[in-house]
Amino acid sequence: MNFLRYQGARGRFHLAVETDDGVYDLAACYRQYRDLGGPHVPGIKTAFARASLRLLLALPSRAFLDAVRMSGAQCRAPALLSKSLVLGAPLHDPGRFIGVGLNYREHAREVGQALPAQPPLFAKWNNAITGPRSPVVLPQNSAAVDYEVELGIVIGSRALRVAPHEALECVFGYTIINDVSARDLQFKTSQWLAGKIADGFAPMGPAVVEKGDIPSAQGLTLETWVNGERRQHGHTSDMVYDVAALVSYLSHLIALEPGDIIASGTPAGVGMSRTPPTYLKSGDVVRMSITGLGTLENTFRAA
Ligand code: MG
Repeated sequence: MNFLRYQGARGRFHLAVETDDGVYDLAACYRQYRDLGGPHVPGIKTAFARASLRLLLALPSRAFLDAVRMSGAQCRAPALLSKSLVLGAPLHDPGRFIGVGLNYREHAREVGQALPAQPPLFAKWNNAITGPRSPVVLPQNSAAVDYEVELGIVIGSRALRVAPHEALECVFGYTIINDVSARDLQFKTSQWLAGKIADGFAPMGPAVVEKGDIPSAQGLTLETWVNGERRQHGHTSDMVYDVAALVSYLSHLIALEPGDIIASGTPAGVGMSRTPPTYLKSGDVVRMSITGLGTLENTFRAA
């Protein structure tokens, strides 16, 4: 089942799920579930009011979601027309948004870096998160804005000091993130943060796809096209630290919580590694896809 946020009347966002037979508003499904005698889920109305997947994942019970997943049309409200939906980022308010650098062997090679002995970490903040079709503004203080397609890992349950073999149990699902990076700002100091945090520098979506719908996180192809030209074509089997290793590693640094998200690094083909380096300009359309996770498509615009 895929989790979406869509824009309804008066611009408000709502949580929805996409199944094989349509897209359903989750709050409407919950009303149906209650009408059918399903037990009250404390806190769920706040999650709906804020259209917050993080709050939904933090609820103590998944019985309602299990019912929507398992019971077919019975627990589902009338389907929404999916083609007309305006989508927001599926997870707009993660508690932590963690970036991992140099996590693909081919990418480390193309930027002339040794494979890291530990995963290099940085942060993005929620101001960077934007929708899967939203325009992205090129900031005036950079002339070197670049794209990075990445597998986004969404945490579903608390992960504290978990071993790699237990780590996937704490993962809820996956999405696509464009870890947009201003290279000139990124490399002004040893810390990359300045190049990673501009408003809109993390297009995300179109959905968070549950882990069970992805046969293997290490079996996915990632691609980026700029104005129709393929620039990135990698595979998650090329990761230096796989999903389980990353979640385990991070869980020894902090307690990961439901709704935290990890951008797990980008494969080769970024603009800064081209000859000459090629950065995004106003009007460029960046399209990204990952096996089973759909497509992001964002147009970049001058400020
Ligand atoms: Mg990155």
